[in-house]
Amino acid sequence: MGIKEEIREFGKSIGIDLIGFTTAQPFDITQKVLEDSINNGFGLPHLNRILLQRCTPRKRMPQARSIISVAMSYNISPEHFPSRPDAPFLGFISKHAVGMNYQRVLREKLFQVARFINKFTPVKYRIFAGGSSMVDRAIAQRAGIGWSGANTCLYTIDYGSWVFLGNMLIDLEIEPDRPIENQCKECYRCVTACPTGALVKPNVIDPYRCLSYITQMEGYISEEFRISMGKKIFGCDTCQQVCPQNRQAIPSDHPEFMPLIDPSVDLISLLRMDKEEFGESFEKTVIGLGNRDIILRNAVIALGNYRDNRAANVLKEVLHQHVSPVVRDHAIWALSQISRFD
Ligand code: SF4
Ligand code: SF4
Repeated sequence: MGIKEEIREFGKSIGIDLIGFTTAQPFDITQKVLEDSINNGFGLPHLNRILLQRCTPRKRMPQARSIISVAMSYNISPEHFPSRPDAPFLGFISKHAVGMNYQRVLREKLFQVARFINKFTPVKYRIFAGGSSMVDRAIAQRAGIGWSGANTCLYTIDYGSWVFLGNMLIDLEIEPDRPIENQCKECYRCVTACPTGALVKPNVIDPYRCLSYITQMEGYISEEFRISMGKKIFGCDTCQQVCPQNRQAIPSDHPEFMPLIDPSVDLISLLRMDKEEFGESFEKTVIGLGNRDIILRNAVIALGNYRDNRAANVLKEVLHQHVSPVVRDHAIWALSQISRFD
């Protein structure tokens, strides 16, 4: 068995679903696409600033010769989810956010792969898991892990788009894999179903309209998007849920991604949690990484979207007691939604 097969076998034995290999050559086409996106106003400033580094692996590690791209499915079967809270007002969390912080899990898996390779030959490497330091999806595509759907998600044959991606730059020459054929059915259900029109056309996303970005950003949310959020309080799975390519996705049973929280959250309890209770509930998930006020703001919006007078009391508590002006301001909006439809 060559080193590539050894790495693949080892990866499988530690729970990595897919491993692909590509060169450390720059991602010129991706860079051009992203430049066009920036010129059309769709770039995010913190990513625009590092565009060249993201697309040029050797800017991250000058001696890199190959990239090992890995994917792990988080398509956990519904029977593994905790029971849905018996509460009148539920907010919904994206499927990727209910298990253990995937960045930590993927980093650890990639370190194990690096230690394994080091047994054969001493190597230098650099690991990237989560975040946006590199163009993960373009790397996975070139490494033969999957293709890009019209909703810009990376799709794999077996696991659909429900995968986390990570990469290792390595100073070892490994024969690259071939990209696989794009199997997007071009049905554009994703484009039609998007609640905000963020998919401005197939393969082009305006992140400023995408609820996945909006529900994780800090600050004020425009009224248009408050309504489109509906009951979503963290992330958005709509364009993936409607995609026929995801219907046959193999369920995942990775213990690391077993749900630590239910994707349906009792909004009233959430808003009444103190900092400690919030930390205990979410600290191991990606939600715990962010600012608590972001999810409280989103919970307030979701309650407003219920337009039900029974939610008014907790919103008034937030309005009078919460320290964040952003959360309080959204509580005023939520109360106005309730009174408008009462
Ligand atoms: S919904 Fe249709 S167009 Fe969109 S990614 Fe899936 S297969 Fe492609
Ligand atoms: S994640 Fe949601 S808002 Fe973003 S493109 Fe997909 S459907 Fe639209």
